[in-house]
Amino acid sequence: MNIETAIQKASLDLKRNNIETSLLDSEILMSKALKKDRKFIFLNSKKELNDIQYQKFKKLISSRLRSKPIAYLTGKKFFWKYEFKVNNKVLIPRPDTELIVEQVLEIYKHKNIINLLEIGVGSGCVILSILKEKKNFLGKGLDFSKDCIKLCKINADKLKVNHRIKLYKSNIDNFNLGKYDLIISNPPYIKKLDLNNLDKDVIKYEPKLALDGGLDGLSEIRKFIKKSSELIKKRGKLFLEIAHDQKNGVKKILIENGFYINKTVKDLAGNDRCIISTKK
Ligand code: GLN
Repeated sequence: MNIETAIQKASLDLKRNNIETSLLDSEILMSKALKKDRKFIFLNSKKELNDIQYQKFKKLISSRLRSKPIAYLTGKKFFWKYEFKVNNKVLIPRPDTELIVEQVLEIYKHKNIINLLEIGVGSGCVILSILKEKKNFLGKGLDFSKDCIKLCKINADKLKVNHRIKLYKSNIDNFNLGKYDLIISNPPYIKKLDLNNLDKDVIKYEPKLALDGGLDGLSEIRKFIKKSSELIKKRGKLFLEIAHDQKNGVKKILIENGFYINKTVKDLAGNDRCIISTKK
């Protein structure tokens, strides 16, 4: 079978299983199976696949048919301006989360040196993107998952910012190191009962610990804000990603912990997604 026919066949299978990006997914997985870029796929569409290549492609497609996300199948995902290595131990970087990067760069555009902490680094996409853009920022990153720390280190090396980040495998409750000008986090904020309503791709494959915000969706946010209020310098800033319906709840927790609210920023879908506050 040639490349084009295999892609068309796979795309049809994916489409029948309600995978909207069926053609794109098939092309990406063909690139993965052949270890070539997509340009090669287009330029060599009539090339015959050998048995090993075809079996490899079919295996990838059958994982995709079981809703496994493309990013986990290819092991990478673009975020902001860079490509990050990912695996199923970390949340797949979302475009919505680029808001934190965008806002930090805007608010700190005239600041050169600051100390920055991220609570829950995952793949490291947020803090590493910021460090890459701001050459004199120094970062610390925290995660309770050993696998996340490992992956974040690999990404830090890849982006060549490894000399400006220190990573700690720790639970938030046990972390008491340093004082920061800026703290950022994309905490788990989905209500426990809503977890099962997430896309199949998400709920079947992404780490629940990175999503589960407890019964009211705010239990981790509450912890993160309380700890941030201890770790942040006076007039330091906290940037948090939140769910579309958490603005008022989170504002209240921030105020109770000695922060004032600067602003809430909406994502491209028009939902409140990022809340920025300052420690009094
Ligand atoms: N925005 C993510 C989702 O809806 C959730 C991320 C999070 O809980 N921090 O899948």
